[in-house]
Amino acid sequence: MAQSESAGTTTRSEVDQAFIDVHAHIAVFEALEPMRRLLPDQMPAIKKSDDGWVARWSTGASRPIEDGSVEVDTRLAAMSAQGITFQVFSCTTWLYLYDAPAQGAAAAMALQNDAFCELVRTHPNKFAAMAALPMQDPAAAAAEVRRVAACPEIAGVTIGTHVEGLNLDDPSFEVVWEALEQSDLPVLVHPNRVSNTAQERLNKYHFSNLLGNPFESAIAIGSIACSGIPARFPGLRFGFVHGGGFAPYQIGRWDHGWDVRPETREKIDKPPSEYFKQFYFDALLHSELSLRTLGELVGWDHVFLGTDYPWDMGTDHPVAELRALELDDRSLSAVANRAAHNFLKPGSLAGADLLA
Ligand SMILES: [Zn+2]
Repeated sequence: MAQSESAGTTTRSEVDQAFIDVHAHIAVFEALEPMRRLLPDQMPAIKKSDDGWVARWSTGASRPIEDGSVEVDTRLAAMSAQGITFQVFSCTTWLYLYDAPAQGAAAAMALQNDAFCELVRTHPNKFAAMAALPMQDPAAAAAEVRRVAACPEIAGVTIGTHVEGLNLDDPSFEVVWEALEQSDLPVLVHPNRVSNTAQERLNKYHFSNLLGNPFESAIAIGSIACSGIPARFPGLRFGFVHGGGFAPYQIGRWDHGWDVRPETREKIDKPPSEYFKQFYFDALLHSELSLRTLGELVGWDHVFLGTDYPWDMGTDHPVAELRALELDDRSLSAVANRAAHNFLKPGSLAGADLLA
């Protein structure tokens, strides 16, 4: 399942040194104002006041922005405190901008991705980046994939669990999967917004996040597996955050559905769990027992660290939580760094110099 040739020679000290975070968010300050000029109706103005960073939209809406989203020194200090030696960051989900006009969005994503590369070049031993795509225009998204594939700073791409209500099995996205596979770039799928229907029933108790996000991931994973995308693009690797939401825990139900329901068999000739061989999951479950279950379900070679930095639903102790499982050295090193190496674009973690 995993390509772990180096596992047998990974030493204890290397395991102790190399902890790669594949799920963290950023808003690169230098890109924000140029993006807002392109998309004034969708992009907020970001300013720092006595109360900290604030985003203000042209509608008058505003929200505070965590210091760590935009301040690189704050981010580096947090990584040090977490025990994370290398971070592969993605944009914050409000920077997907899938509701923006396609042409402006394509230009804005290119600006953002270029700013990501610039930041990685400034800290090559600390960061790599996941590019964002203008998924509302799949042809433009595929073109951006091919453009960023030439950038050594880019380790993969990140997309939402849906694009303005379209599930990821929509045929229009096939050109994106094709470009990703040909470029050997993996895709990290992150919940963006729960559907409007579900939103009405999830507006208390932070349910939009606690239930909505794992539900979104389950819809995305199911849509990808049951539509046969992994079979059509066998070189394409998908990553899912928050431990894959509800999907890994329910895989037995999905396989049973494939056994008894023709709808589930319509596009795949193997049970859905077979396609998990192309899936990776982060370890962000906030439960030792849940994480242990995930590792046993999907294999530790398919689990990498994710902090969700800088959000409060993330973890400040990713390494301590991993060590608390008391895994054998091989499994520990898989989650610490080897799964990230296997998931991300080959060579894109060279700056981390972790398993050399
Ligand atoms: Zn996240």
